[in-house]
Amino acid sequence: MGQTLTEKILDDHLVEGELTPGEEIGIEIDQVLTQDTTGTLVWLQFEALGLEEVQTELAAQYCDHQTYQFDFKNTDDHRFLRSAAGTFGAHFSRPGNGICHNVHKENFAEPGKTMLGSDSHTPTPGGLGELAIGSGGLDVAVAMGGGAYYIEMPEVVNVRLEGELPEWATAKDVILELLRRLSVKGGVGKVLEYTGPGVETLTVPERTTITNMGTELGATSSIFPTDDQTKDYLERLGREEVFEEIGPDEDAEYADEIVVDLSDLEPLIAEPSMPDNVVPVSEVEGVDVEQVMIGSCTNGAYEDILPAAKMLEGRNIDKKTEMIVAPGSKQASEMLAREGWTAEMMAAGVNFSEATCGACIGIGHVPASDSVSLRTFNRNFEGRSGIEDDNVYLCSPEVATAAAIKGEIVDPRNLADELGDLEAPGLEMPDQYIGNSESDLIAPENAVDDELIKGPNIGDVPLKDPLETEVGGEALLKMEDNITTDHIIPATQDILMYRSNVPKLSEFTLSRVDDTFAERALEADGGVLVAGENYGQGSSREHAALCPMYLGIETVLAQSFARIHKANLFNFGIVPLTIDEETYEKIEQGDDIEVVDDAAEAVKSGQEEFTIRVNDDWEATGYLDASDREREILAAGGKLSHTKMQHDDG
Ligand code: SF4
Repeated sequence: MGQTLTEKILDDHLVEGELTPGEEIGIEIDQVLTQDTTGTLVWLQFEALGLEEVQTELAAQYCDHQTYQFDFKNTDDHRFLRSAAGTFGAHFSRPGNGICHNVHKENFAEPGKTMLGSDSHTPTPGGLGELAIGSGGLDVAVAMGGGAYYIEMPEVVNVRLEGELPEWATAKDVILELLRRLSVKGGVGKVLEYTGPGVETLTVPERTTITNMGTELGATSSIFPTDDQTKDYLERLGREEVFEEIGPDEDAEYADEIVVDLSDLEPLIAEPSMPDNVVPVSEVEGVDVEQVMIGSCTNGAYEDILPAAKMLEGRNIDKKTEMIVAPGSKQASEMLAREGWTAEMMAAGVNFSEATCGACIGIGHVPASDSVSLRTFNRNFEGRSGIEDDNVYLCSPEVATAAAIKGEIVDPRNLADELGDLEAPGLEMPDQYIGNSESDLIAPENAVDDELIKGPNIGDVPLKDPLETEVGGEALLKMEDNITTDHIIPATQDILMYRSNVPKLSEFTLSRVDDTFAERALEADGGVLVAGENYGQGSSREHAALCPMYLGIETVLAQSFARIHKANLFNFGIVPLTIDEETYEKIEQGDDIEVVDDAAEAVKSGQEEFTIRVNDDWEATGYLDASDREREILAAGGKLSHTKMQHDDG
């Protein structure tokens, strides 16, 4: 039987297990990526493991989420990251040089390689045939030290593209259409592999918009085969030597098939506040828009901003609408500036930001209260823009720009009819991309530092003791479905500046759900969290497991868990038990929860069903779905303790 592209790459990198869906496999990692909010912990963990040098083919440290250096803490973190990259042998991308996924795809992505990144949108270079997976930072630290990455073998789903995009429909509409059909849970446990005649009609920048936002479907990764489009893109980047033609075998078998006819697509938009609330733009026309933002790792590239510039040439944006462009990379900024497009947009009333994630996580450009913001980003979770009760819509740069011109949501096809002289800009790539300057993207051989520089806000990584016999405590918080890692540890500036200081950061744990939680957890000396479906969706932030661990949380009872967060719970020694809906409904906040079995022994022995006694009154069952390796990690008190034990033994 033939293999899918995903299976071929995994097979090439397999160090343990078999490629049977649901079975745990260990794979060798070629490249790693980390960014500034997750990176400090990655390097502190790398150091705590006693590792001395990066062992992967390539490692890259980006500074993109928190580029505004409001006070010394961010600046200290960036200096620490530069020193860690220099000391251990990674590339270092300076604050302002761009968003990790944009800079990585432009400089390092390679067909056929594996990559692990401590950021949930790591799958972006799947658009160039790289199999890239998002994970917690500790997994990245271990992989960077040469260790295998363990994951449940995903199902490989064939997303067959047919036809060609019509005018005004874009790659963003392809992924919004998939979100409309499949929902934010539709890709869980799956790699989405794109095939079919529609593939060759899409350029690599369009493909990476799709693979980037496959994360919103919950997919483990998304990948395209490589072809002339890939070769052409790499040539324009000056990196054609890494091109390799790869794709699935003709007789490859997929777990499922989804067909998308590109010619049927029209401009789509995700309404507040979930990326899968997708409707045709024409259905929500007329909504007043106060802010338009173009940028992010999804649609912040040169090829995303140029269409907006072309649409704005010789026009003005509406007087009551602000429009901000935050390029995904400095390379995009520089090219647009050199070609005069930046000036054209400024003349139309647009403001420019440095190349940063910033507004995507509520740092800067927070919308006004009770207002609508249209963004080309990938997430619109409530509150993520920096204000609770926000109204953030997600759309393509074309739809966002049309709204900026009209001052309200409008289907760009209708705006074109109305204006008479507005043409669909299409997608255009530069003949030759300019590279990053050596000072913005510092190679290991040009490193500035050779020892770690730690400022006062950079603390130690807390270690957890091995799992105890008794697990449980008070149900300190009962939460709804779809709690995100943003709810657990908000990524706003005032909170994230403590990312390298776990005791301080822990004070904000789940503060968006209940601002008394952290204090109650400390007082109770631990306890239990209860949640509905899809607990921990969203970013890969391992602080969302580390801080609850620091507060003494021993177990989370949820109806289901998001993949990366569940892995993070194992990594930090918190037992993730799945409960059914009836149990979830019955448990109340404040209940006394006791996991009756000898937890340490039961976890180690492979036991899957755990008796949960509530208030010494009634009992239910919690299920532990974990591999032998994950069980060992849990029993040891987390991956850091476990890996340290292995190092000490060997
Ligand atoms: Fe940055 Fe937003 Fe992309 Fe995350 S999703 S990497 S915060 S731009």
